[in-house]
Amino acid sequence: MGAKPDLAELEPDELETELSALGAKSFHARQLYRWVHSRGLERLEGMTDLPQHLRNQLSRVFTFSTPQIAARERSVDGTEKFLFTLADGKTIESVFIPDTPSMTFCVSTQAGCAMRCRFCLTGQMGLTRHLTAGEIAGQVRVLARELKLQERRFNLVFMGMGEPLHNYDATMKSLRMIAASQGLAVTPKRITLSTIGILPALKRLAGEQWLPNLAVSLHATTDEVRHALIPTSRNQRLTDLIETCRHFPVKHRDRITFEYVLLDGVNDTADDAVRLGKLLRGLRAKVNLIPLNEAPGIPFSRPSEQQVNRFARSVASCGLVVSVRKSRGRDIRAACGQLIIEDELRGLNTQQLAEM
Ligand code: SAH
Repeated sequence: MGAKPDLAELEPDELETELSALGAKSFHARQLYRWVHSRGLERLEGMTDLPQHLRNQLSRVFTFSTPQIAARERSVDGTEKFLFTLADGKTIESVFIPDTPSMTFCVSTQAGCAMRCRFCLTGQMGLTRHLTAGEIAGQVRVLARELKLQERRFNLVFMGMGEPLHNYDATMKSLRMIAASQGLAVTPKRITLSTIGILPALKRLAGEQWLPNLAVSLHATTDEVRHALIPTSRNQRLTDLIETCRHFPVKHRDRITFEYVLLDGVNDTADDAVRLGKLLRGLRAKVNLIPLNEAPGIPFSRPSEQQVNRFARSVASCGLVVSVRKSRGRDIRAACGQLIIEDELRGLNTQQLAEM
C-alpha cells in the first residue's frame, strides 16, 4: 500500500475531486482549503464547520503536513528569519522583510541549491532535495499566520534557498495554491520569481497562463565571467539568455528585473557597465544591483559604496533603470545569499571552503 496523500499538497480543483470521491460537497472543499491556506490551521479538529464524520474520513485517508518553525530570529532592522523543519526532518529558511515599501516574504523552493553560484552560501551546501508544492506554499501560510498578515497585502519573492526553475512543477503548483481565491489570494503581480535563467524552463515559463514577475540573475557581462561565477550556466550563452528574455511576455508597463551582484574588481568595471547597457538595449528591463553580502568562505569582496554608486551611475547613463538593493537582515544572516543551514556549513572543512 502506498503512502497516504497529503492534504497540504492539493490545489483547489484536486481537493474538490478528492472530497467528492469521499461523497463530500464541493463547498466542503472550499471550506477546507480556506482553513488550511488562509487561516493556517494545522489540524483537522479545529475545522468546526466541516462535519465530524468528514473530518474522521479525511484523517483516515490523508496525512496533513505543515512546515514547523524550529527557530525565529529578528534583525535590528526588523527583518525576521524563520527556520522550518519539514516532515522528513530537513530544514529550510524563509525571510520576512517588513517595509520594502510593502511587506515581503522571501521563500525557498529547494532545501539547498544545485546551482553552486560561487558568491552564495546556499550554493555551497549543494542540493539536499526539491521542496514539494505544499512545502513551498506552507512557508507562506505559516508566515502569514505567525505575522498576522492573513488579511493584509504582502509581496512574495521566490528568492530564498534554491533555484525555482530547477524545481519547475512544484514551484508553479505552489504559485497556483498561493493565488487561489479561497486561500491567501496573492495575485501574480505581487509575486516575483528569481532565477539564473535555465533556458528550457524559462521558455516553458513564458508559455504559462499564470505569470509571476520575472527577475533574472545576470551577474556578468561576458560569458567567461558568468560561467566562472555560475558554474551551472556553462552550457548557455549570455546572448541566448538575453534573446529568450526578449521573447518573454512582459505586461504593459512591467519590466524584467536583472539582478547583478557586485563583486569588487570582478564584474564592476567601467567596461562592464557599458557592456551591460549594450546587452540590455531595447529590452523592457530594470537593473537591480546587489552589493555582495560577504561571508566566511566566499572568495569575493563587496565594492565600496563609492564604487557601487559609480557603477550605478554608469549603467543609468546607458538609459537603464537602476536600483541598488539594500541588504536587510545581514546581522542574522538573512540577506541575499546568506541562507544556509548552519550544520551543513560546519560540515565543510576549511580546505573545501578555500576551494569554493
Ligand atoms: N536561485 C535564484 C534565487 C537566488 S537568491 C537566483 O539565482 O536568482 C536571490 C538573489 O540573491 C540572486 O540574484 C542571487 O544571485 C543573489 N545572491 C546570492 N548570494 C548573494 C550574496 N552573497 N550577496 C548578494 N546577493 C547574493
